[in-house]
Amino acid sequence: MNYSNQAIVSYMAVVVLLNLLASIFYIYTPARRIHAMRVSISYFRSFFLLMASGFVVFGLAFPKTEPIHSVLTAAFFLTAFFCLKYGFIVRQNPDHPPLYKSKFFYLNLIAIIAINGFLFQYYVESHLMRSAALTSNCSIISILTLKYIHKDKTSKKYGESLATLGVLFSIFCAMAMLLTLNYTQDIFTYFSVFMVSQSLIAILILGGSQAIFLSDLADLYYQESVTDVLTGLYNRRFFLRQSESLLKFAERHDYPISIILCDIDYFKRVNDNYGHEHGDKALIAFANVLKESSRESDITARFGGEEFIILLPKTDAKGATVLAERMRSATESLSITNGRKTVSITASFGVTTFDHTNSIDEHIKQADTALYLAKSRGRNQVVLHDASEAINASIE
Ligand code: GH3
Ligand code: MG
Ligand code: MG
Repeated sequence: MNYSNQAIVSYMAVVVLLNLLASIFYIYTPARRIHAMRVSISYFRSFFLLMASGFVVFGLAFPKTEPIHSVLTAAFFLTAFFCLKYGFIVRQNPDHPPLYKSKFFYLNLIAIIAINGFLFQYYVESHLMRSAALTSNCSIISILTLKYIHKDKTSKKYGESLATLGVLFSIFCAMAMLLTLNYTQDIFTYFSVFMVSQSLIAILILGGSQAIFLSDLADLYYQESVTDVLTGLYNRRFFLRQSESLLKFAERHDYPISIILCDIDYFKRVNDNYGHEHGDKALIAFANVLKESSRESDITARFGGEEFIILLPKTDAKGATVLAERMRSATESLSITNGRKTVSITASFGVTTFDHTNSIDEHIKQADTALYLAKSRGRNQVVLHDASEAINASIE
């Protein structure tokens, strides 16, 4: 074997090992613990394993390619690019039908195998044409992959950008290879461009997708740490952390900010008379009323048991009282069904507005005093806290 052939085989060995190593990273990624991410991770792993297999066949065939080698490499590489596309699709939608059910995939696979077989059969020196067919086909799949990489178009993630770069680079490399083939028939130049570009694509896709999975995992854990499992609202920890900064912001920009503290009336009786499960349903229904009545910019949180709190930026006492009254009235008209039983609930509301002299804790205490008054005055009503006198602000 001459030096240039030795160099080509070494390149190939490096690319095979690189892809194999990349596939191993997906076995140990911490995101595999999350069921919804596992399928997507498997697609990425398959991408690298199939790429490695493609290069192994490529290497075995070198320097004398047989039809079987050509057909197998085409099948491996094309399937790899389909796996990459599905990795991104399934990341966004874990319920998407799997690749093996895609008719488009099978049709494309049959087409590329047929084209390869045909070219091999009828053109002795068809290397250029076979390469062109396969790289163009993989590039089309890459172009189709691009639109599935960014999950949230408004906040692009570092990993997503890196993966986009990898996919774009694979398209660019395909073009570069076709040009190389066009201008030189020197197999050494062709393989050098091919192998160097494949290494770079592997690194970009590996780095990008690993960064994506880690940031998805961090997002998931963060969401879990700030969300109440039962109602899906924010939890107390998030409310307290967020309200501190919103309060400072309101003070700086001099706009009003209010809070509503509310508590379901006689909730213990719901549990005692209808069971805990029915009680949970009532909590979820009440939480939905609060969520639906408030704005995107409000922070609606479960403060404890059957007690909820809403922070309302840019809302004065009057606005907050009107909103609390709307929530009270919507709660009253709820009918919560569990099996054959239906229960109605009411809730009491305490409202206060920040005066920017007291802390958040002081204001929560004020809302609690107003809520206590609402309870003691017969429940199912809204009370606005007043420093001198708590006035009943229930609106008819
Ligand atoms: P009040 O009108 O004075 O608020 O009376 P109450 O019965 O609502 O108040 P109390 O504080 O005596 O009871 C609250 C009940 O809320 C007791 C507790 O079992 C129930 N609770 C707290 N968290 C949950 C939950 O997650 N699910 C269910 N089903 N019940 C809960
Ligand atoms: Mg209660
Ligand atoms: Mg309570």
